[in-house]
Amino acid sequence: MSGAPQGGAANAAGGLAYEEPLIFEQSRPGRRGAELPRCDVPEVDAAALLGENLREDLPALPELSEVEVVRHFTRLSTWNAAVDLGLYPLGSCTMKYNPKLNERVARLPGFAWAHPLSPAAEVQGLLELCFELEGFLAEISGMDCVTLQPAAGAQGELAGLMMIRAHFEQRGEPRSKVLVPDTAHGTNPASAALNGYQVQTVASGADGVLHPGALKAAMDETVAALMITNPNTLGLFEDHIAELCEIVHAQGGLVYGDGANLNALLGVARPGDMGLDVMHMNLHKTFSTPHGGGGPGAGPVAVKRVLAPYLPTPRVQRGPDGRFAWRDDAPHSIGRLHGGHGNVGMLLRAYAYILSLGAAGLRRCAEAAVLNANYLLARLRGAWHLPYDRPVMHECVLSDRALQASGVSTLDVAKRLIDHGYHPPTIYFPLTVPGALMIEPTESESLEGLDRFADTLLQIAEEARRDPALLHGAPHRTRHRRLDETRAARKPVLRWTPQEESA
Ligand SMILES: *Cc1c(COP(=O)(O)O)cnc(C)c1O
Repeated sequence: MSGAPQGGAANAAGGLAYEEPLIFEQSRPGRRGAELPRCDVPEVDAAALLGENLREDLPALPELSEVEVVRHFTRLSTWNAAVDLGLYPLGSCTMKYNPKLNERVARLPGFAWAHPLSPAAEVQGLLELCFELEGFLAEISGMDCVTLQPAAGAQGELAGLMMIRAHFEQRGEPRSKVLVPDTAHGTNPASAALNGYQVQTVASGADGVLHPGALKAAMDETVAALMITNPNTLGLFEDHIAELCEIVHAQGGLVYGDGANLNALLGVARPGDMGLDVMHMNLHKTFSTPHGGGGPGAGPVAVKRVLAPYLPTPRVQRGPDGRFAWRDDAPHSIGRLHGGHGNVGMLLRAYAYILSLGAAGLRRCAEAAVLNANYLLARLRGAWHLPYDRPVMHECVLSDRALQASGVSTLDVAKRLIDHGYHPPTIYFPLTVPGALMIEPTESESLEGLDRFADTLLQIAEEARRDPALLHGAPHRTRHRRLDETRAARKPVLRWTPQEESA
């Protein structure tokens, strides 16, 4: 029978693992989940109204009862790892707990049902909220102006670099290059290349950070910007950040900050004060929006005054009468980046998060996130190889070097962690560390939770020595065993075909 437990097989959490067919396979003609009220307006002749635009080839949508739909999606949800189920230490992604209060706020009907094309007069509250959020983010980042429009960190990078390009075009300076340290996230060189810039990689030093000497050697007047992440993706604070900014500025260049790691700095230090000219923030990471599986994000960009004329439009503004309006009159703007005004649901959640924590609470987040990462590092030192063994910020990077003698790889470790109920950390990144495991515990974890995770990693290191085959075969306790990742990437089957058709 559909939905029967799979012979009592336990999933990672120890519960039942449900077998669940596709929703299309459960469909039965005529079954329905809701009764629509009878039509109380005159019926129109659709064919006469729509003419040739009337489609007859309707898609075969599944037909199910309400309980079937609810059980289907609830069962599917039990197959997923989630922040609400346990530690999700996916480095660089800041998978912190997302307080339910944010969800409550984002669902308030006045916000949730607002239409992107609503006249400003009808959504004054929403505009005020956007205006205030821009102010909060400017304050937190130490910048002058903010746009909330970009729908992800990567789109924020694109926006920031478009503004940088517009700035140099305006000055009549042909600049062709963007410098990117070798620890950078892949989106950084991609965003620069997408903007027509030549990307030049700058090597970080033996201590994992960028050194002024290396930057000086690469810096000249053809460089539009240095794109830097601080703390960087090794979880290390860029000690020379102020001097690096001075070197770039001395040649007329600008500094782009990838703010995905802002969680480490919240309320403690401000990128704007370090000399950065433009940065994006990942609201879905730092300011707590659920974002596993590539769900919606928000990547506001904060700029210093020099780049303000180029900000995307429309911009929310407060008039002398205290009313809010969208303004389009910015002749040098890079234009619109989003069909609406950004992913407003994420903005609401970030706003609720910032207000509910307050300035002191945000600072405590950063302090706890940094403490937690360093605690893990301290517990794992010895059993695991630490490529950069120095105090870290919000995340720490281990490597599989100590396990190599037993033939166990980082991928094996990641898969084994699933057996223990953990989402694996980020692996094989940053590229400067062979076999990297990049762990970001975030501030959400209790001491007991951190200890359980450290004990698990120590146990896995022990298993690697005693029983490498156990790790090669992991995961053992999930619905699906290890997938052939190469085939999944090279020959993905992305379309479901009904059985009659495929037969
Ligand atoms: C997540 C991340 C990005 C990209 O952000 P998205 O919102 O996923 O587009 C860029 N840089 C770093 C360091 C990141 O961790």
